[in-house]
Amino acid sequence: MKIKLLSVVSFLILAGSCSKHQKIEINNQELLENIQILSSDSLGGRAFSKPGNYKAQKFIIDKFRKLGLESITEKEYLQEFNYTFKGKKRQEVFPIKKPKENFSNVLDTIVTGGNIIGKIKGLTNKTIVITAHFDHLGVKNGRIYNGADDNASGVAALFSIAEYFKSKPPKHNLIITALDAKEIGSLGAEYFLKNYADKENISLNINLDMIAHSDYDPELFAAGLFLYPDLRDPLEEAKSDKITLLFGHDDPEHKEQSDWTFSSDHKVFHKEKIPFIYFGVPDHKDYHRSTDTYATINPDFYIEAVTTIIRAIENLDEYLND
Ligand SMILES: [Zn+2]
Repeated sequence: MKIKLLSVVSFLILAGSCSKHQKIEINNQELLENIQILSSDSLGGRAFSKPGNYKAQKFIIDKFRKLGLESITEKEYLQEFNYTFKGKKRQEVFPIKKPKENFSNVLDTIVTGGNIIGKIKGLTNKTIVITAHFDHLGVKNGRIYNGADDNASGVAALFSIAEYFKSKPPKHNLIITALDAKEIGSLGAEYFLKNYADKENISLNINLDMIAHSDYDPELFAAGLFLYPDLRDPLEEAKSDKITLLFGHDDPEHKEQSDWTFSSDHKVFHKEKIPFIYFGVPDHKDYHRSTDTYATINPDFYIEAVTTIIRAIENLDEYLND
């Protein structure tokens, strides 16, 4: 009996340790197809409030439906918000900010943006919010800014993440969110968090923004450990031997590295004292240029980056004790 018990215990230990290093299977072809569609000319660079952006919304909604995610919004997966760049107040109209980029044409008008939100139910009431913005820069000087790395890469990864955890239910609820209006000041992320009913139960935000481009070294960064050092172990255990997962870009005193704490939508969670881990690559030659296309991403790096991120989410889900 003793021997039997021991072997059961050692099996459990073995099974437990294996889960941290197990091979993550995703559909590579589908991942690449999805980033290709999201960064195609037909979506016109997905600029906030432009036709290509609404087309992207429809594509993401359709994917969430096919993946069988739970909808928690009034319209199916869609959380709309109105925005004006001037002070004409209307309910739900967002506080005014200075317009960035080439949005002077929408001054004085009220425009509608939309976050796409899906849920995978966990075993507890605690939640991990996984975010990636889908908007980009649109068309400038007659050129389409396709934004393949920024950030069709993060959004296509959301589908792979959702597919994986649909078949392997997590401990935490996963709120999988494609955010709008990042390129004009993270307005989608702000709206999402402001209106999220159960903020106290958000344990972590995992934000993906530019994870498919690596011209020289296959390096993916996870930023946030300087602020949240307790999350190091699950990330260490997610490391891959095909790409280098590095930690950094989160220490304001570290002068050689830019601090990414406020560089993308995770900043909105950080401001609300919700821990975050941000996955991304350093700015590259195609960053915010019309050459950020499907042709300039690195497919092998991207597939391995997404796999590593899924392993990290799985470890964090197990590890977070809340
Ligand atoms: Zn971005």
